[in-house]
This record gives sequence, C-alpha cells and structure tokens, in this order.
Amino acid sequence: MPEAPADATTTIAEQLAAQQVMLLETLNGLYDDATLLVGRILCDRRDATVATARSVTLDGIELHLTGPDGDDVATVPLPAPLNHLDELFLLFFALVIEARERSGEEGTTSVEQVIASASGYRTFLTSVSAVEDVNPHLRQVTFQGGGLTDGFAPVGPDTFLYLLLPPPGRTELTIGADFSWEAARSMPPEDQPVGAYYTLRRWRPEEAELDILMVLHGDTGPASAWAERVAVGDEVALWGPRTSWSPPAGTDSYLLVADETGLPAVAVILETLPAGVPTQVVAEVDDISTRQELPSGDHITVTWLHRDGAEAGTTTALADTVRSLPQPSAATYVWGGAESRAVTQVRRHVRDTWGLPKDQVSLVGYWRHRAHEHDPDLED
Ligand SMILES: Cc1cc2nc3c(=O)[nH]c(=O)nc-3n(C[C@H](O)[C@H](O)[C@H](O)COP(=O)(O)OP(=O)(O)OC[C@H]3O[C@@H](n4cnc5c(N)ncnc54)[C@H](O)[C@@H]3O)c2cc1C
Repeated sequence: MPEAPADATTTIAEQLAAQQVMLLETLNGLYDDATLLVGRILCDRRDATVATARSVTLDGIELHLTGPDGDDVATVPLPAPLNHLDELFLLFFALVIEARERSGEEGTTSVEQVIASASGYRTFLTSVSAVEDVNPHLRQVTFQGGGLTDGFAPVGPDTFLYLLLPPPGRTELTIGADFSWEAARSMPPEDQPVGAYYTLRRWRPEEAELDILMVLHGDTGPASAWAERVAVGDEVALWGPRTSWSPPAGTDSYLLVADETGLPAVAVILETLPAGVPTQVVAEVDDISTRQELPSGDHITVTWLHRDGAEAGTTTALADTVRSLPQPSAATYVWGGAESRAVTQVRRHVRDTWGLPKDQVSLVGYWRHRAHEHDPDLED
C-alpha cells in the first residue's frame, strides 16, 4: 500500500484525534474480546484478562493490559500505513486475524464473527449416509441432506469444514444451525460440542452429498473416537466452508506437501489444476498399503515417503525431502497440510532458504503431535 503524503497524514492524525472517543468505545465495547486477543498475543501477555485501548494514533493502538502477572502498557503497531480513517477497522481486523493465527487457540471473537458472516461461513446440519474403510487407518464418511441442500458449495480445492459433534458419550447434537463459537463456549462444559477440521474430498451437488476422509488414530481425540464408532444416521454439523488455497496469478509450478491428513486436499488440487503445469507432490504415509489414490499425469511427480513403523508426527521425512529438492522457479506456489512441526520445518526452508514470498506459500499445521502440543516454536 503506498504511503500517504505528509499533509494527508496530518489530516488523518487530526481525524483520529477527533474520533478518539468513538474509536475507543468501539474497541473497548463492541470488540472488547478481540482487543483482548490482540493484546494477549501481539503484546506477548497471554495471561492478560483485560485489555483496554487507551489511544489510537498513526503509531498504533495503545493498550493497557491487566492480568495475574501485573499491569502493562504496550502499543500494537498498525499492520499498514493508514491512508483513510475508514481503513482503521480493516487494519484492526487484520491484527485480530494475525493474533488468532499466532495464538494456536480455537475461538471466535466478535470481530471474527463479523468476518465470518461477511465470508459466508454457516453451520450445515446433516447426517451420515455411508461409511467405508479405505484402509485400516482411514475411513471415508459420507454426509447427505439436511442443511447441505440449502446453498452449500465448495470454496476452493482444499475446502475444509469444522466437523461439530455431540459431546463425548452423547449421540444428540447440542447445537443448531444458529451455532456460534462464542455461544458454544458459554455452554456448560458437558454440553459443548467437540470436533475438528476435515477436508471436503468429494461433493455431489445433485445428491447434496459429500465425503470426507478421516484418519483413525484411536480414542486419543474426540473426532477420531467418533469416527471409530460412526454409524449411518449419526447427526453432525459442518461449519464453514473455508479454504487456504490462493496461488498468485502467474504461478508456473506447484509443490504440494502432505501427510495423510493433507492428502484428501492434494487429491482434489490435482484433479482441479490445469494439465501441463508442473506439480510435485511430497507425501508421507505409514507404508505402501496406506497410500491414498491420487490423480496422475505427465506433469505430476509424486514422492511417497513411508514411516515404516515410526509413529505419525515423529519423523522429519517431509522437510528432509523438500530440502533435497532443487531451488524451484521464483513463481512456484507451495501448499501443504501435515503435522505442525513438519509443516514448520518445510515453511522455514521454503521461506528462508528458497526465499519464496509469503503469498506463494500456504503451509498449514493440520494437527499437532502430543510431544509438541505446547511448543511455542511451532507456527501453525
Ligand atoms: C484445514 C484442515 C483440514 C484437515 N483435513 C483433514 C482430513 O481431511 N482428514 C483428516 O484425517 N484430518 C484432517 N485434518 C486434521 C484433523 O483436524 C486433526 O487430526 C485433528 O486433530 C483431529 O481431531 P481429534 O479430535 O481426532 O484429535 P485431537 O483432540 O485434536 O488430538 C488428540 C490427540 O490425537 C493426536 N492426533 C491428532 N490428529 C492425529 C493424526 N492425524 N494422526 C495421529 N495422531 C493424531 C494429537 O497429537 C493428540 O495427541 C485437517 C486439519 C485442518 C486444520
């Protein structure tokens, strides 16, 4: 974004001063939960329980933070120059998104609800219509009908949805189509839905039916535990849809990096990419019998990596293989979904060693191995 000329900047500074009361009321009233998230994460005060905006200037938003570790005053810089006063809340929204990404925490503040409703996220109530095992560690679950008949559509080749499930030990959903993260968090703990993100593998609009592929990793997590016992007729809600796929115009080749959680998206991406664009896939699975079916073509190269007995999430094979690849074209787009530490290692290589700019890299930590569940060094 171009810098504003000096005289315009002065005018904006004056406008900020004139609107100060309204701005602070909005940050401390309407968006107080989002202001707290920004303060906790971007000012490195995760313990803070209250964040009060004290001033908004061209330098940023000055916050007073209170928590068990004491009081602090810190200024969060605006993420871009302010050229017009009405851009201020867009910049604040960008800070909220950055704070959410860096936090590693689930949740929806008031600002994220505004963004979500503007982005068209909805809650689709539906039920299981078929279950099929792809291999002993991967189950295809099909959902049909209900809310899916009313305007559901994928939003990208890696379309993903949050699968909302009944609380553990229960069979009936405790939320409805009016689900919101805020309302769910204020429900009694025993009534709160559980779940996780899953990728839309296939969508059949005529039948209002979709498939997801769920890794079965036992009863260690509520979504996997649900998948172990899933039966036709089980009711769920799907929140979304969302995407992280955004190759810039001019992309001339692709590198896709995934473990078995990211492979459903890789399959759809390969189905939708134009033939002829060189695409390299680096995929990690248990062994040859757990490879997932991927489209093939002269332009597609797949390198399969087998853990051969090692536990998922404990190897460095994905990053080691990416490090062994030659420097790609400067117009390569790198997409990935896999365990968080593996993804962090790959991201560091493609950003720091290859020097690919941020907009050419979309590497998402899809899950965290328990050994690094709280590792602050990981960037999800
Ligand atoms: C955008 C996105 C798309 C995704 N798409 C898919 C998909 O299509 N299919 C799919 O299977 N997953 C997918 N995932 C990953 C899935 O959301 C996570 O694996 C999630 O942690 C599963 O939730 P849970 O309740 O089973 O386990 P959690 O409660 O999150 O974790 C409990 C324990 O299980 C372990 N664990 C979690 N996932 C795995 C795993 N895959 N293998 C081994 N151990 C694990 C954790 O380390 C933890 O110790 C996606 C994630 C994202 C962010």
